[in-house]
Amino acid sequence: MIIAIDGPSGTGKSTTARLLARDLGFVYLDTGAMYRAITFAALAAKIPPSDTAGLLKLLETTSVDFDSDNKILINGVSREQEIRGAEVSANTSLYSAVPEVRKVLTNLQREIAKTHSAVLDGRDIGTVVFPNADFKFFLVTDIKVRAARRFEELKEKGIPMTLEEVEKNLLERDALDSSRKEAPLRKAEDAIEIDTTQLSITQQVQKIRDYVGVVA
Ligand code: C5P
Repeated sequence: MIIAIDGPSGTGKSTTARLLARDLGFVYLDTGAMYRAITFAALAAKIPPSDTAGLLKLLETTSVDFDSDNKILINGVSREQEIRGAEVSANTSLYSAVPEVRKVLTNLQREIAKTHSAVLDGRDIGTVVFPNADFKFFLVTDIKVRAARRFEELKEKGIPMTLEEVEKNLLERDALDSSRKEAPLRKAEDAIEIDTTQLSITQQVQKIRDYVGVVA
Protein backbone atom coordinates (compact mmCIF):
# COMPACT_ATOMS: atom_id res chain seq x y z
CA MET A 1 0.00 0.00 0.00
CA ILE A 2 1.23 3.48 -0.87
CA ILE A 3 0.08 6.56 1.03
CA ALA A 4 1.08 9.90 -0.52
CA ILE A 5 1.19 13.04 1.62
CA ASP A 6 1.91 16.20 -0.35
CA GLY A 7 1.79 19.90 0.42
CA PRO A 8 4.01 22.90 1.13
CA SER A 9 6.61 23.03 3.92
CA GLY A 10 5.46 23.59 7.46
CA THR A 11 2.10 21.87 7.08
CA GLY A 12 3.22 19.03 9.35
CA LYS A 13 3.67 16.58 6.46
CA SER A 14 6.90 14.97 7.61
CA THR A 15 5.94 14.48 11.25
CA THR A 16 2.51 13.19 10.27
CA ALA A 17 3.94 10.83 7.65
CA ARG A 18 6.59 9.52 10.05
CA LEU A 19 4.10 8.82 12.86
CA LEU A 20 1.56 7.32 10.49
CA ALA A 21 4.20 4.98 9.03
CA ARG A 22 5.26 3.96 12.53
CA ASP A 23 1.65 3.25 13.57
CA LEU A 24 0.94 1.22 10.45
CA GLY A 25 4.32 -0.53 10.37
CA PHE A 26 5.07 0.96 6.95
CA VAL A 27 8.33 2.37 5.58
CA TYR A 28 8.52 6.18 5.77
CA LEU A 29 10.20 8.07 2.94
CA ASP A 30 11.02 11.76 3.36
CA THR A 31 11.49 12.75 -0.29
CA GLY A 32 12.27 16.38 0.61
CA ALA A 33 15.35 15.13 2.46
CA MET A 34 16.53 13.49 -0.76
CA TYR A 35 16.27 16.77 -2.72
CA ARG A 36 18.01 18.53 0.17
CA ALA A 37 20.78 15.89 0.09
CA ILE A 38 21.51 16.44 -3.61
CA THR A 39 21.46 20.19 -3.02
CA PHE A 40 23.95 19.83 -0.16
CA ALA A 41 26.25 17.70 -2.33
CA ALA A 42 25.98 20.09 -5.30
CA LEU A 43 26.74 23.14 -3.14
CA ALA A 44 29.71 21.35 -1.59
CA ALA A 45 31.04 20.46 -5.06
CA LYS A 46 30.24 23.99 -6.33
CA ILE A 47 28.01 22.71 -9.12
CA PRO A 48 25.33 25.30 -10.02
CA PRO A 49 21.76 24.23 -10.99
CA SER A 50 22.50 25.29 -14.59
CA ASP A 51 25.33 22.71 -14.96
CA THR A 52 23.28 19.71 -16.04
CA ALA A 53 26.29 17.57 -16.99
CA GLY A 54 27.93 18.29 -13.64
CA LEU A 55 24.73 17.41 -11.81
CA LEU A 56 24.34 14.14 -13.71
CA LYS A 57 27.86 13.14 -12.76
CA LEU A 58 27.17 14.10 -9.15
CA LEU A 59 23.95 12.05 -9.14
CA GLU A 60 25.87 9.03 -10.44
CA THR A 61 28.54 9.24 -7.79
CA THR A 62 26.46 10.28 -4.76
CA SER A 63 24.58 7.79 -2.64
CA VAL A 64 21.52 8.96 -0.72
CA ASP A 65 20.19 6.63 1.99
CA PHE A 66 18.49 6.75 5.37
CA ASP A 67 19.69 5.23 8.63
CA SER A 68 17.40 3.18 10.88
CA ASP A 69 16.27 6.43 12.53
CA ASN A 70 15.25 7.92 9.15
CA LYS A 71 18.15 10.39 9.18
CA ILE A 72 19.79 11.13 5.86
CA LEU A 73 23.11 9.56 4.87
CA ILE A 74 25.04 11.10 2.00
CA ASN A 75 27.78 8.74 0.78
CA GLY A 76 27.34 6.93 4.07
CA VAL A 77 27.86 10.05 6.23
CA SER A 78 25.07 11.45 8.44
CA ARG A 79 24.19 14.94 7.20
CA GLU A 80 20.83 15.54 8.88
CA GLN A 81 21.87 18.82 10.49
CA GLU A 82 23.47 20.19 7.31
CA ILE A 83 20.51 19.50 5.01
CA ARG A 84 18.14 21.43 7.31
CA GLY A 85 20.28 24.59 7.45
CA ALA A 86 19.58 27.98 5.85
CA GLU A 87 21.87 27.54 2.82
CA VAL A 88 20.42 24.23 1.72
CA SER A 89 16.85 25.41 2.47
CA ALA A 90 17.35 28.47 0.30
CA ASN A 91 18.74 26.49 -2.65
CA THR A 92 16.79 23.21 -2.76
CA SER A 93 13.94 24.59 -4.91
CA LEU A 94 16.48 25.62 -7.56
CA TYR A 95 18.05 22.16 -7.79
CA SER A 96 14.74 20.32 -7.47
CA ALA A 97 13.45 22.15 -10.55
CA VAL A 98 16.12 20.46 -12.70
CA PRO A 99 14.41 17.62 -14.68
CA GLU A 100 17.50 15.35 -14.52
CA VAL A 101 17.59 15.60 -10.73
CA ARG A 102 13.88 14.82 -10.49
CA LYS A 103 14.20 11.83 -12.81
CA VAL A 104 16.92 10.16 -10.75
CA LEU A 105 15.25 10.82 -7.39
CA THR A 106 11.80 9.82 -8.65
CA ASN A 107 13.21 6.46 -9.81
CA LEU A 108 14.95 5.97 -6.48
CA GLN A 109 11.72 6.73 -4.59
CA ARG A 110 9.77 4.24 -6.72
CA GLU A 111 12.48 1.65 -6.18
CA ILE A 112 12.49 2.04 -2.38
CA ALA A 113 8.70 1.79 -2.17
CA LYS A 114 8.43 -1.09 -4.65
CA THR A 115 8.81 -3.88 -2.16
CA HIS A 116 7.31 -2.23 0.94
CA SER A 117 4.07 -0.58 1.98
CA ALA A 118 5.13 3.01 2.45
CA VAL A 119 4.12 6.51 3.46
CA LEU A 120 5.89 9.12 1.31
CA ASP A 121 5.80 12.86 1.86
CA GLY A 122 6.75 15.44 -0.73
CA ARG A 123 5.38 17.73 -3.42
CA ASP A 124 4.67 15.42 -6.36
CA ILE A 125 4.05 12.01 -4.79
CA GLY A 126 0.35 11.85 -5.65
CA THR A 127 0.73 13.53 -9.04
CA VAL A 128 3.96 12.07 -10.49
CA VAL A 129 5.84 9.55 -8.34
CA PHE A 130 2.82 7.39 -7.44
CA PRO A 131 -0.21 8.63 -9.41
CA ASN A 132 -1.93 5.35 -8.51
CA ALA A 133 -1.24 5.60 -4.76
CA ASP A 134 -3.89 3.94 -2.62
CA PHE A 135 -4.40 7.13 -0.64
CA LYS A 136 -3.45 10.71 -1.44
CA PHE A 137 -3.55 13.57 1.01
CA PHE A 138 -2.74 17.21 0.42
CA LEU A 139 -2.04 19.28 3.53
CA VAL A 140 -2.56 23.05 3.67
CA THR A 141 -1.96 25.48 6.57
CA ASP A 142 -2.05 29.23 7.18
CA ILE A 143 1.41 30.72 6.39
CA LYS A 144 1.87 32.33 9.83
CA VAL A 145 1.24 28.98 11.51
CA ARG A 146 3.59 27.20 9.07
CA ALA A 147 6.38 29.69 9.75
CA ALA A 148 5.94 29.45 13.53
CA ARG A 149 6.00 25.63 13.41
CA ARG A 150 9.10 25.49 11.21
CA PHE A 151 10.82 28.13 13.37
CA GLU A 152 10.27 26.03 16.53
CA GLU A 153 11.51 22.88 14.76
CA LEU A 154 14.73 24.61 13.64
CA LYS A 155 15.26 26.10 17.10
CA GLU A 156 14.99 22.64 18.65
CA LYS A 157 17.59 21.37 16.19
CA GLY A 158 19.89 24.30 17.02
CA ILE A 159 19.69 25.74 13.49
CA PRO A 160 19.86 29.56 13.64
CA MET A 161 17.17 31.33 11.56
CA THR A 162 14.82 34.18 12.55
CA LEU A 163 11.03 33.84 12.24
CA GLU A 164 11.09 36.40 9.40
CA GLU A 165 13.76 34.43 7.51
CA VAL A 166 11.78 31.23 7.94
CA GLU A 167 8.56 32.81 6.59
CA LYS A 168 10.41 34.41 3.66
CA ASN A 169 12.04 31.08 2.80
CA LEU A 170 8.69 29.25 2.92
CA LEU A 171 7.02 31.80 0.62
CA GLU A 172 9.92 31.76 -1.85
CA ARG A 173 9.92 27.97 -1.95
CA ASP A 174 6.13 27.84 -2.42
CA ALA A 175 6.43 30.18 -5.39
CA LEU A 176 9.31 28.26 -7.02
CA ASP A 177 7.89 24.80 -6.27
CA SER A 178 4.42 25.70 -7.61
CA SER A 179 5.59 27.44 -10.76
CA ARG A 180 8.26 25.02 -12.00
CA LYS A 181 7.60 23.12 -15.23
CA GLU A 182 8.56 19.68 -14.00
CA ALA A 183 6.34 18.08 -11.33
CA PRO A 184 5.13 21.31 -9.70
CA LEU A 185 3.64 21.41 -6.21
CA ARG A 186 -0.02 20.77 -6.93
CA LYS A 187 -2.91 18.91 -5.35
CA ALA A 188 -3.76 15.75 -7.27
CA GLU A 189 -7.37 15.82 -8.44
CA ASP A 190 -8.21 12.77 -6.37
CA ALA A 191 -6.29 13.86 -3.23
CA ILE A 192 -8.08 14.57 0.03
CA GLU A 193 -7.26 18.07 1.23
CA ILE A 194 -6.73 18.56 4.96
CA ASP A 195 -6.35 22.02 6.50
CA THR A 196 -4.02 21.51 9.48
CA THR A 197 -4.08 25.14 10.73
CA GLN A 198 -6.11 24.22 13.81
CA LEU A 199 -4.94 20.62 14.19
CA SER A 200 -2.31 19.14 16.46
CA ILE A 201 0.00 16.49 15.02
CA THR A 202 -1.97 13.80 16.90
CA GLN A 203 -5.20 15.06 15.35
CA GLN A 204 -3.64 15.14 11.86
CA VAL A 205 -2.44 11.56 12.17
CA GLN A 206 -5.82 10.45 13.50
CA LYS A 207 -7.67 12.17 10.69
CA ILE A 208 -5.59 10.38 8.06
CA ARG A 209 -5.90 7.10 9.92
CA ASP A 210 -9.68 7.52 9.89
CA TYR A 211 -9.67 7.82 6.10
CA VAL A 212 -7.24 4.93 5.63
CA GLY A 213 -9.14 2.80 8.13
CA VAL A 214 -12.55 3.38 6.57
CA VAL A 215 -11.52 2.13 3.15
CA ALA A 216 -8.76 -0.36 3.97
O1 C5P B 1 9.83 18.78 2.32
P1 C5P B 1 10.99 19.75 2.38
O2 C5P B 1 10.61 21.11 2.83
O3 C5P B 1 12.16 19.20 3.12
O4 C5P B 1 11.46 19.88 0.84
C1 C5P B 1 12.52 20.71 0.46
C2 C5P B 1 12.39 21.09 -1.01
O5 C5P B 1 12.58 19.92 -1.82
C3 C5P B 1 11.04 21.66 -1.46
O6 C5P B 1 10.93 23.04 -1.25
C4 C5P B 1 11.02 21.29 -2.93
O7 C5P B 1 11.73 22.25 -3.71
C5 C5P B 1 11.81 20.01 -2.99
N1 C5P B 1 10.95 18.81 -3.10
C6 C5P B 1 10.47 18.48 -4.34
N2 C5P B 1 9.75 17.33 -4.51
C7 C5P B 1 9.49 16.52 -3.47
C8 C5P B 1 9.96 16.86 -2.17
C9 C5P B 1 10.68 18.04 -2.01
O8 C5P B 1 10.67 19.20 -5.31
N3 C5P B 1 8.82 15.38 -3.66
